[in-house]
Parts: sequence; C-alpha cells; structure tokens
Amino acid sequence: HNLERLVVVSNRGPVEIKETPSGVSVSHTVSGLVSAVEPIIEATGGIWIAWCGRKKRKPGVGHTWPVPRTEPRYSVREVTLSASEHRDFYLGFANDCLWPLCHSFIDRCVFNPDYWRSYQLVNQRFADAVAADWREGDVVWIHDYQLALTPAMFRALRPEARIAFFWHIPFPSYDVFSILPWAREILKGFLACDNIAFHSPVYLDNFLHCVSWLLDLEVDPEAGIVRWEGRDIIVRALPIGVDAARFIALATEPAVRQRAEAIRRSIGARFLVLGADRLDYTKGILERLQAVELFLERNPGYADDFTFLQVAVPTRTEGKAYRELRRAVEETVGRINGRFGEQWRVPVRYQFRSLNPEYLVAHYLAADVALVTPLRDGLNLVAKEFVASRIDNTGVLVLSPFAGAAEQLTEAVIANPYYPHDVAEQLRFALEMPREEQARRMRAMRENVTRYNLTHWWQSILDSLAQTLGGHLRLS
Ligand code: UDP
Repeated sequence: HNLERLVVVSNRGPVEIKETPSGVSVSHTVSGLVSAVEPIIEATGGIWIAWCGRKKRKPGVGHTWPVPRTEPRYSVREVTLSASEHRDFYLGFANDCLWPLCHSFIDRCVFNPDYWRSYQLVNQRFADAVAADWREGDVVWIHDYQLALTPAMFRALRPEARIAFFWHIPFPSYDVFSILPWAREILKGFLACDNIAFHSPVYLDNFLHCVSWLLDLEVDPEAGIVRWEGRDIIVRALPIGVDAARFIALATEPAVRQRAEAIRRSIGARFLVLGADRLDYTKGILERLQAVELFLERNPGYADDFTFLQVAVPTRTEGKAYRELRRAVEETVGRINGRFGEQWRVPVRYQFRSLNPEYLVAHYLAADVALVTPLRDGLNLVAKEFVASRIDNTGVLVLSPFAGAAEQLTEAVIANPYYPHDVAEQLRFALEMPREEQARRMRAMRENVTRYNLTHWWQSILDSLAQTLGGHLRLS
C-alpha cells in the first residue's frame, strides 16, 4: 500500500486566520502537534481540517487555504465556530471538563449539559467537513480529546473509510474516567476508528480497562486489539519523538551558542536552573516554585550562586483557572525574591512569553539543570528537546514520573512534583552531580531520543496502520 493521501483532523491546526482592517491574514502557528504532524503532511500532500481561530456569527465549514503560502505543499480546510460554541465546546467541554479529567484533576471538572451539547455539535461539524473532502484511498487521521466523537460521526457518513486516532493527553484510570457523565459516549466516539494510539502503555491500559468495564467489550491486551461491532480495532502505545537532528543542528549553530553564553553572563550566578512550560496548572509550576523556595531555605550556601529561570508560555488566557494560576505564580515569584533577593540580584527570574526555537535551544544550552516537573503530562516534549540539545553530554534533567516521557528518559533524576521536599532534594542532588555521572546519564538519554526520533514515531504509526490495512505502508 502507498499512503495515497492524508487527511489530518485536529481542533487547532497549522494556521491562524484573522480578519484585519486590510483583509484576511493567515499566519503559521506552532504547537507540539503541528511540529509533529506537519513534516508528514508536507511530504505526502493532503488536507488538514482544523479550526483556525475564527469566530463567526454563522459558523460552518469554510474554504481551503494553501500552506505554506509561497510554495504550497498541502491545504488547510477551515472549520469555524460561533462565539457560544467557542465558549461551550472549546473553553467549556474541552478545556474545563475533558482536560482536567484526563489529567486527574477531578475537582476542576465542570459537568455542564450545554457544554456537552455544543461538543456534539462541533464534533459533527468536523465529521461533515471530513466527509466533504474525503475520497477513496484516503487515510483520515484524527487528533486528540477535542474531537473524540468525530470518528463515529464520520464513520456513519462513510462506513468504508480508514480512520486512525491519536490521543495526545493522558488517558486516566477507570475510577477517574468513569466519573464523566458521558464516559460511554466518548469511548464509543473514537472506537469507530481502525487504529487508536496513545503516548504510553499506562494510558493504553487505562483505556482498555475503561472499554471492558464501561462497554463490556472484548479486549485482547497482548495483541492490542479491541473487538467492537464486528471490527478489530488496533490499539497501541506509540510515544512521540522529537526531531533530534533539528535540535542538534540548532545546538551547533554559533549564533545559538553565543546566545547561550549571553544568557549565562546576564544571569551572573554560578548555577542556572530552567523551567519552560505553558502556564497550565498541569505543569506544576506553582509547586516547582515552592520547591525552589524550600531549596533556598534549606541550602543557604547556594543563595549567591543560584538562579531559577521560569519561562511561562501564555496559554488559554481567557480561562478563569488560567488567570488565577498566573496571579498565584507571579505572587509566588515576588514572594521568593522578596525573601531571598539581594540588592543586585534575585534568585527567581520569570518571563511570561513564548521563546522561538533558536532562543529556546539557547536556554536549553545555558542551563545546568532543567526542572520538568508536571503533575501530569501526556508526554512532555520539553524534556526530550532539552536532552536532544545537550550535544556535549552535560547538564541534568530532573523529571516528574507523571510525564509520559519518564518511561523513555529512564536516566533522568526522578522527583515527585506533589512533594516539594523531594523536588528540593533532587534539585540539590542534580546541582552537585559530578560531570562523569552527568555525561553517563545524558549520553544514555541522548541515545534514546536520537533513536526514537520523530521519523521513528512516524514509521511506527504507519506500521500500525498497515496492520489494519494489510501489507506494508510507506509514504508515496
Ligand atoms: N515551546 C516553545 N517556546 C517556549 C516553550 C516551549 O516553542 O518558550 C515549545 C517546545 O519546543 C515544545 C512545546 O512548546 O515543543 C511544548 O510541548 P510539551 O509537550 O512540552 O507541552 P504542551 O505545551 O504540548 O503541553
């Protein structure tokens, strides 16, 4: 089989469309999903169906846009939302119900029937959009928790279609997932696929438990198969990789290395510890700051030698939970600096912005330690990118066991983000680690991220699709 044409479907896509006084502007956007999926759709050509950020009074399925504009390699089909759908489907059901649920933050879940209605409606719109563009031979690849019902809705329109799904966030355990009033509907929604993949065997296991207990289906965990309505659905754990060669190239660039040195000079302190995440409560930024405070309290000898730099990338700024988190984080940074700062220097530096790849890699290179301590994270690309960038095998990764990436980065220093005492302790261990030990661990992790890179992920997705279709699948 050749992969004739790929139809990618995701809530947010590779472009943002805005109406400006001088006309419509189309700009390229970046996210983990886009950097993982775009290289393949650029290679195969095809169509990417996504909401491009526009709210319309009469929402629906819109035009296609060639991407990239100058030398188009594929096209984007725009799906628009109304203001109330944006509120109920996106901010409501996706961000305030499924997101906290799947990250096991039950207290933050809002169960609202209006949100659910809107979620169904918008998922149906995506299914209609796919059906309109679909032609025989296509592989439809649907992404993530915002569109869990779209596979079944699309299957009802095109029963013979080949559909794959990637769930990018954690899949919680049965006792958490079954709290969702619409748990069965969500499961049935994406069981309409031929092929379903997660980042980790734990999520896959949780999913299989949910399927067998909530839907009473036959599952074969060894073979990775669920039987549903006469079909065998292949289920896999396929953790995503990073484009290691790209990070190595960036880390080798003289301009990036000079930038890293400039960051070190401007920091002044002997040790630089880095955090870089979206400002999301799942990332454990507040808990990390508490750990840094505890570290400073217990290790006064470090006071003049130590800087913790947190890059907090703005995200979901319309959400109340996110505004509150920002306030709490900024208050905590102020409190720590008030307590431990000296006249000319402060122990915590904080930036509320997103860094471009060159600048981000310069930060990865400048740091002695990366503190990647999410409370729960589907995978965490930052951890893998940090490792990929450390071409001289120096530096220490302190990693939460609750990030999917911890299953691959087994030589990281593991710290429990729910227990600041542990993070403070592991931070000290990391700062005092001899060079040889740093190199031993970093080398092993670098081997892992270069071998299991983005291309490897792609091939494993294709291999698992090929099992569904029979034969071998390659990019045509
Ligand atoms: N990132 C970025 N600029 C920044 C910080 C992060 O471009 O200042 C990128 C980073 O390179 C990574 C992505 O954002 O690819 C974050 O992915 P991750 O899986 O760590 O977390 P997510 O935001 O998807 O939950």
